[in-house]
Amino acid sequence: MTDPDALAQRKMQFLFALRSRGVTDPAVLTAMEQIDRGLFVRGLFSERAYEDTPLPISCGQTISQPSVVGLMTQALEVTSRDKVLEVGTGSGYQAAILSQLARRVYTVDRHKRLVQEARGIIDQLGIVNITSLISDGSFGLPDQAPFDKIIVTAAAEDPPGPLLAQLKIGGIMVVPVGQSDAVQSLIRVRKTEDGLDYDELRSVRFVPLLEGVAREND
Ligand code: SAH
Repeated sequence: MTDPDALAQRKMQFLFALRSRGVTDPAVLTAMEQIDRGLFVRGLFSERAYEDTPLPISCGQTISQPSVVGLMTQALEVTSRDKVLEVGTGSGYQAAILSQLARRVYTVDRHKRLVQEARGIIDQLGIVNITSLISDGSFGLPDQAPFDKIIVTAAAEDPPGPLLAQLKIGGIMVVPVGQSDAVQSLIRVRKTEDGLDYDELRSVRFVPLLEGVAREND
C-alpha cells in the first residue's frame, strides 16, 4: 500500500469502526490511533490490517479483532499508575496499546518466536515501558505480582487461579472463558475486599490458553 491518501482513509475508517462497535473511551481511541496495527501484521495479510477482523500471525496464532482489543482495554479501566500483566503477547499489538495508558506492562507468551518478533516492533516504536517474557502465563508472574490489571488474550476454561491471586484488591482482570473451539464469554472480574465480582461483557472467540512453554518447532 503506497498511496498515502488511501492509507489515511483506511485509518479513518478503522477508528470509525471502533467507535461504532462500542469503543468510546477517548484515551483508548487515542492509543489505537497512535499505534499502527499495520506494523504488527506481516506478509499476505498486511493489506487487511485496518479491517476490524482478527488476522493470522506466526506460530498459528492470531492478532485479535481491533474492536475486541478496544473493548478489552476499555473494560480494564487502565490508569497511568497501573502495572498491567498481559497473558498472550501474540503480535504485541495489545501490549503496545496498553503501554500508552499504563505505567508498566508485563507481557508473556509461550512462543519464543512471537516474543522476539513483538519485541522487535516494540523497540522500533521506541516504547520503553513493556517487559516481555517467554513463559506459561497461566501461572502469572509471581516475582512481579501483584498487578493492578490483568488481561488474558487466550481462552481459558476458568479464570486461572494464580492470576486471580496476583490481582490487587480493587484490581480488574479481563479474560475470555469457555471451551477453546466454541464461542466464549468475555468476563470481567473485579477483586474487592469481600471477594470477586464477575460480569459478562460479550461473546468472543479466542485461541486457547495452552499449558507450558512451546517447543521450538511448535
Ligand atoms: N494479544 C495478542 C493476541 C494473542 S493470541 C495480540 O495483540 O496480537 C493468543 C496468544 O496467547 C498466542 O500468541 C499464544 O501463543 C498465547 N498463549 C496461549 N497459551 C498461553 C500460555 N499458557 N501462556 C502464555 N501465552 C499463551
